[in-house]
Parts: sequence; C-alpha cells; structure tokens
Amino acid sequence: MKILLAAAVLALIPTPAHAATLDPVFPRGLPAAPSEDSCYVHRCVWDGRHAGNGKGHSLILTEYRGDFLAKRITHRRAHRLIAAWCARPNVECIGG
Ligand SMILES: [Zn+2]
Repeated sequence: MKILLAAAVLALIPTPAHAATLDPVFPRGLPAAPSEDSCYVHRCVWDGRHAGNGKGHSLILTEYRGDFLAKRITHRRAHRLIAAWCARPNVECIGG
C-alpha cells in the first residue's frame, strides 16, 4: 500500500509540458540527418521510422575523421531529439 501511495503522490507533481521532448544526453536536441549516413553538422539524428523508407534503424550520426559513425538508438529517442531541436528558436528544422 505504501508503494501505491508514493506513486499517487508523484503523479500529482507537475512537470513542464516540454519535459517529454528532452533527452538527458542532448537536452537541446539534435538536428535531423538528411540521409542515413550524413549530416549537415557534426552530429545529427536519423529517424528510421519517419525518414527514408520507414524501415531502417534510428541512429545518432557523429562525424569522425571525415566520415560519420552511427550509433543505433530507439525510434522514440530519435524522434524526441529531433522534436527538441525543432522546438528551439532560430534553428533549421527538417523532418521534425
Ligand atoms: Zn519519428
């Protein structure tokens, strides 16, 4: 019963409306990748479900020695990172 009560109390604590779009590692988000293996900047996100043929994996692409290293992430995380980026003022938002 104690556990249920604690959960009920936590549910009452208000959270900022935009909190769901933030990523703890990249709290201000990352721009969407133009393709599965390139970025306009040194780091970006490929949303494998909402870009390309919709069947690929979601990735964080990081520039390394003239190429881009890909780290697989969940679609949910990719989507949140792009949404957080696009919520920033004065940024170029593609695919968001
Ligand atoms: Zn998506």
